[in-house]
This record gives sequence, C-alpha cells and structure tokens, in this order.
Amino acid sequence: MTNNNMYFIANWKMFGDVKSLNSLNKVIKFSKIYQKNKFKLIYCPPYTLLSLFSKKLKNSNIGLGAQNCHQEETSGPFTGSISPKMLKKIGVQYVIIGHSENRATGETDLIINKKIKSSIKCGLKIIFCIGETLLQRKKKQTHRILNNQIIKGLKGINKTNNILIAYEPIWSIGTGIIPEKKDLEKNINFIKKKIKLKKLKVLYGGSINPKNINNINQISELNGFLVGGASQDPKKFIDIVKKTFK
Ligand code: PEP
Repeated sequence: MTNNNMYFIANWKMFGDVKSLNSLNKVIKFSKIYQKNKFKLIYCPPYTLLSLFSKKLKNSNIGLGAQNCHQEETSGPFTGSISPKMLKKIGVQYVIIGHSENRATGETDLIINKKIKSSIKCGLKIIFCIGETLLQRKKKQTHRILNNQIIKGLKGINKTNNILIAYEPIWSIGTGIIPEKKDLEKNINFIKKKIKLKKLKVLYGGSINPKNINNINQISELNGFLVGGASQDPKKFIDIVKKTFK
C-alpha cells in the first residue's frame, strides 16, 4: 500500500540556470490537479536559483529547499557560505543536510549535527541524508553505519518532527542501481524501529526514475523519494509521482 503524504524531493545538485525555471510550469500545474493524492513536492535547486524559485513557487503548493547550509546560524566570516537564516529569509523552507556528496568532501557527523541544530533554530525543515558505501554493505555493516549516522547527526535534538530522513545508499546514487525491494524494506524498517524514531518519515534516494519506481514504491513504511538526476526533467519527475499512486 502506498502511504499518503508522500514526499517527492527534487535535488538538482549543481545543475540548472535561469531557463530551467520554465520547467516548473508543468509541475506546478500537475501538483494543483493531483492534490487529492496528498503528496508534497519539494524543489532543491542550486543556491543561485533559490530566489527565483521562491518567487515562482509562491502561490503553488510546492516546497522549496536548499542543498546545504553553513553550521553558523546567522552570519560570520565564512567565505562562500550561506547560513540557515539567509535561506529562511528568501522563502526557503527545507534544507538537505548530510548528503553523501558533501560528506565526501569532509563534512563530519559533528558538522552535520551543528547544521541540523542551526537550521531547526531558524525554522527550516531538515532533509537528513544517511547511507552506507558499497564496501560497508559488502561487509554487512549497513545497520551499524546507519545507526551511527543517526545517533551522531541527531545528538541532542529532541524535537524531530521537522526532520525527514533520506536513506541514500551511496552505491545507488547516480549509478542506475537501486536496492532489491526486500533489502530496502529491511533497512527502512531498521531506521524506523531499531533506532526508535518511529515518528520520523523515511524517504529513499538513489537512481530513481520512472522505469524503476514501480520496483520499490509499494513499501508501506516508505514516506517518499529524494530524486536526483531524473528530477531535472519535469516529465520524468511527474511520472515518478504518478506511478507511485497508480
Ligand atoms: C541524490 O543525489 O540525492 C540522488 C538521489 O541522486 P540520483 O537520483 O541521481 O541517484
């Protein structure tokens, strides 16, 4: 059975320019027509497009997210960085934190934890990414890794109702490979039950497209998808949503 209130989050990574705004027209129209299915679409374009997206999405029911932020809440001497407060001020509601592509450049669990705390203080909702490498999976360390990332990332955070967890196996991101349904089910259940954060919504991310979505969208504990590459094409993004509710 497919959950209601499913999240579909478009992570555009370092792609998109002013012309890409036009691709939102189709999705805005679609989300108005299909509201009955109770899903939430969220766009996370690069920083350079956030203000434009904010204006464009103003009267729609589509959410806006940033792909990262600095751990300092407001401002400071941090060249090239953007604070959670700055994001909030231009109409951003969500922020992706702990994406494996940022962890890979040295973002530690401690920094992630600080970013989450600062962002919550500023009133942002969090899309908190966790996931294991292929080697960790082969060594059967997946649950230990996920457990660690959650415990360290959410340390000292009691109010978790504004946090979505995105389970993104690193070996699945951008590779075209998605987990077996049984495996994914096991890991989603582990995140929800073992870690005793039952109220948190858990999304899956990694190589989702309209062709493979039917393989995994019927997992009852799943609350949505974080979509990278395929989300840049409005037709593919819409198809992913449609197929989930078909
Ligand atoms: C991501 O990077 O969050 C992601 C899900 O990417 P892709 O869908 O391209 O694998």
